[in-house]
Amino acid sequence: MIKLDTIISLAKRRGFVFQSSEIYGGLNGFWDYGPLGVELLNNYKQAWWREMTYRDDIVGVDAAIIMHPKTWVASGHVAQFSDPMIDNKTSKARYRADNLIEEYIQKLRNKNKNDLANEIETKLNKAEKNEDYYNIITGYQITCPVSGSTEWTEVRNFNLMFKTFVGPVEDESSTVYLRPESAQGIFVNFKNVMDSARMRPPFGIAQIGKAFRNEINTKNFLFRTREFEQMEMQYFIKPGSEKDWFEYWKEQRWNWYLKMGMKESKMKWKVHEKLAHYANYAVDIEFEFPFGFGEIEGIHSRTDFDLSSHQNHSGKKLEYVDTVNQDRFVPYVIETSGGVSRGFMAMLCNAYDEEKITEDGKEETRVVMRFHPRLAPITLAVFPLVNKDGMPEYAHKIYKDLQKYFPTQYDTSGAIGRRYRRQDEIGTPFCVTVDGQTLEDHSVTIRNRDSMLQDRIPVSKIKEYIEERID
Ligand code: ATP
Repeated sequence: MIKLDTIISLAKRRGFVFQSSEIYGGLNGFWDYGPLGVELLNNYKQAWWREMTYRDDIVGVDAAIIMHPKTWVASGHVAQFSDPMIDNKTSKARYRADNLIEEYIQKLRNKNKNDLANEIETKLNKAEKNEDYYNIITGYQITCPVSGSTEWTEVRNFNLMFKTFVGPVEDESSTVYLRPESAQGIFVNFKNVMDSARMRPPFGIAQIGKAFRNEINTKNFLFRTREFEQMEMQYFIKPGSEKDWFEYWKEQRWNWYLKMGMKESKMKWKVHEKLAHYANYAVDIEFEFPFGFGEIEGIHSRTDFDLSSHQNHSGKKLEYVDTVNQDRFVPYVIETSGGVSRGFMAMLCNAYDEEKITEDGKEETRVVMRFHPRLAPITLAVFPLVNKDGMPEYAHKIYKDLQKYFPTQYDTSGAIGRRYRRQDEIGTPFCVTVDGQTLEDHSVTIRNRDSMLQDRIPVSKIKEYIEERID
């Protein structure tokens, strides 16, 4: 199993992800995407957008991050969007109580103490009140990972929404929140979208956008951050049809990850035993990160909770009126809610591979990011075999021509093997080399990242060759 540190250091070295405000010592829970990271991120979002909205029944929106504060009263976030927090009196370290217990369970499993782990897990799954978490932590004498002490405070609620103010006066009436999920921007626009785009249930609204949560503990790189992006789709359906649509979206979303090259052996379902206040069915798709399985996307059947609640709080009707069948109803909703940054990180972990190869009689280890060609930040690299005899000029022209169609790099420095290695490490699926023969017959070699095999093809066919293989 690869180490998370290996991924983090490759991400930094090659310009995928940097710590936010690094020159000031960084800010916990915030990350910046570098030149290659932003390409991968955009490709990932674009792949989702194409999958979800290039179809008849789903359209997109891009809603504001700051919404009317009543939104968050109606959604239940003001009252309920909190995590159970506990402090260790000795170290003063602060933890999310359920995560502290989960980590303890994981430690027990690592030591093969599975019976005890199962016993605690059953209690954790049933825990509803702060008191339940407290009883588990003190009852099993779970210690603080920093101090090793069992001196704990009570478990309290901590609301995760970031607050700020609109306008010059900082008081209650001007308080707003940075949205903790993008879904509500879809719900409040339900009627606008349905009427303007002339949609009728079953139909969906998709959105990709930032969300903010003042997480108690941030950790594991991009897995739990305070600013992140979500790709969410809310599918509006007739009440009573939710079980079928829930199954449909489970299958669609699982298959999308497979289509993006995710290894099925690293994926699993997690069925929610404890349902959120709005849900009647809920599952997560989990991915096996270097630190264990973690959620990357949730598929939830949210009933009419959101639309009905916004209807009550706003006084505006949010129902579908079917004039043909003389029917009217507040639609039920199936939601698919994926984390972009978590998915991005899953793709980094999924793609990472090390393999022993022999080149020029020497054995070496090649690090290769096996991204799906659609997701790879750079599609193609072009090299002159040597920097003379007209090869650089020829190669540079190919580079300029193909840059119009694909993210392309041009590299002249170092031995050809080194140049391949640099591209392998960022996951470039194709490398074109201009050699002596090119100047005679206008053919090049094109090397495939995964097989390392080369084809010789005419220069005029490079674009077509790549297009055929990219999907
Ligand atoms: P968790 O239990 O891990 O806090 P959640 O169940 O609250 O997550 P949802 O509210 O269902 O998560 O959010 C949908 C998706 O948004 C998650 O599947 C995840 O990919 C992403 N996500 C949620 N919180 C974070 C975060 N703090 N950092 C990065 N991604 C996040």
